[in-house]
Amino acid sequence: MNLAEKEEEIFLLMKYAAAGEDLPAARDLVARHKNDHISLNIFHEFYSYLPEAQNDVIRALRLLWKREGNFLIAVTTTIDNYLYITSHEGSEYLGRHEDGIWDKEVLELFDLDHGTALEKFKDLNSFPLYVPANMDLRLCPVCATDHGDLHRLGCPVEICPWCGGQLAKCNCRFEQTGKEVLKNEAQLKTFIARLNTKGRIPFNATEQSLTLG
Ligand SMILES: [Zn+2]
Ligand SMILES: [Zn+2]
Repeated sequence: MNLAEKEEEIFLLMKYAAAGEDLPAARDLVARHKNDHISLNIFHEFYSYLPEAQNDVIRALRLLWKREGNFLIAVTTTIDNYLYITSHEGSEYLGRHEDGIWDKEVLELFDLDHGTALEKFKDLNSFPLYVPANMDLRLCPVCATDHGDLHRLGCPVEICPWCGGQLAKCNCRFEQTGKEVLKNEAQLKTFIARLNTKGRIPFNATEQSLTLG
């Protein structure tokens, strides 16, 4: 789904989710994020599946943390505050802010346990409002990883450590594994292991944002 299609689908979902008088402001908020997959994925998830299964709208998004293109976002609605993890590929509902994070993968991603996370993210007002990732020039323009962090695997901006070309397109995966095609998960894993041993090249905002315009 491209950005315009995603926005249109969100607007459609909102008609069923929002009470009439809340709709204009809620639509404005979505429109302000129309060039950013990361946040549109949250709007889409929220309006597809309302946490309380009753009319509600998103009033604000706050950035709690980000790592390697994954964004932990607190969503403030008319009813309550909720947590979402989101990336360029999609968004997942984590639960009410008050209940904290129980998702093991998410806790591992940020090196936290449930208690530490609960304490750390307790005061939502101390966290900044989320700025659409496409407006932040320190982030990879495709996968939104931070300057100095690894790209999300498969990001077309990642540079190949063997040939210096585009890792998603070059032939090194075949040369490194001795296969003509990578057909299954196991072969892909072998390649990723070799890639990690060689050392992946993190995103460099100064060099790479400019070359991509
Ligand atoms: Zn990237
Ligand atoms: Zn290569």
